[in-house]
Amino acid sequence: MNATLRALVACAAIAFGPASNAQHPALNLYSARHYQTDEALYENFTKTTGIKINRIDADDAGILARLKTEGAASPADVILLVDAARLWRAEIDGLFQPVKSKVLDARIPATLRGKEDGQGAQWYGFSTRARLVVYNKANVKRDDVDTYLELGDAKNKGKLCTRSGSHPYNLSLFGAMYEHLGAQKAETWLAGLVANMARQPKGGDTDQILAVASGECGVAIVNSYYVARLLRSAKPEDKAAMEKVGIVMPDQSGAGTHVNIAGAGVSKYSKNRDAAVRFLEYLASDSAQVYFADGNNEWPVVASVKVANPALQTLGDFKRETIPVSVVGLNQVKVQQILDHVGYR
Ligand code: FE
Repeated sequence: MNATLRALVACAAIAFGPASNAQHPALNLYSARHYQTDEALYENFTKTTGIKINRIDADDAGILARLKTEGAASPADVILLVDAARLWRAEIDGLFQPVKSKVLDARIPATLRGKEDGQGAQWYGFSTRARLVVYNKANVKRDDVDTYLELGDAKNKGKLCTRSGSHPYNLSLFGAMYEHLGAQKAETWLAGLVANMARQPKGGDTDQILAVASGECGVAIVNSYYVARLLRSAKPEDKAAMEKVGIVMPDQSGAGTHVNIAGAGVSKYSKNRDAAVRFLEYLASDSAQVYFADGNNEWPVVASVKVANPALQTLGDFKRETIPVSVVGLNQVKVQQILDHVGYR
């Protein structure tokens, strides 16, 4: 058992103690969301329904591994993941049970759901985020970095920074690019990214943005909500950093900017299905959708929800890439092989 799993088991022993309230059994939520602002999102659910939430936090891979280990004995009721390909993986591995709900049918677009049959959909997407480009305005020309493809071009040598190539956010982007480019061009592109690195991949997306601001990196690929968080920060050092940073929604004249989702489904072995479905319906409610937008700077998936978030307004409307989640998921294994081959760590 590795350290992460050991920590998870220790957490579980605390979280899944005796049920506190027979009338409102607690909901066991396995969550890969890692955003402090989500506390209010969960508290609001408990306030309106009386259902307490026991949360197990881990990254997507940790949650999937844990669910497989637990099997039919899993106490999980809801599985919440932050990457489309991981949702697809969980679906393929049979970790969800289908959910049919008039509320979810009416509010979540059909393109943002897992596999559907007569029993319902395996999972639903509740927020979206874009994988965009930030660059140092003093050192880099916007025209040189406004497509994903150009980031692998020799003109950007020594400028690129990213987190690990194997992180789900990157694997999903690369999986989408693999679909656009085909195997050979995808490998050339990824080798180009490696050749253009300003430093070895390290840190999270916020670290890349700050390194672009400092000039250590010329350009980086990051999730939109990390950019938005810094844009909204009141800290003088964040404000100063963001003045140096240009933001690009890549591929606006091409396939559109790569978009990923956070989504959830009911765990296959949930003993608390009604509460679990209620929680999914809550995530599609106006108030929860506003939490995604205001709290963590993601785009709501419910079209009628009005967002008043200055940072999202700054990012503006943009053309989104449309590639089926299943394709991005299927391509990941091939992408990982290429990453190993070209030495993208
Ligand atoms: Fe994240």
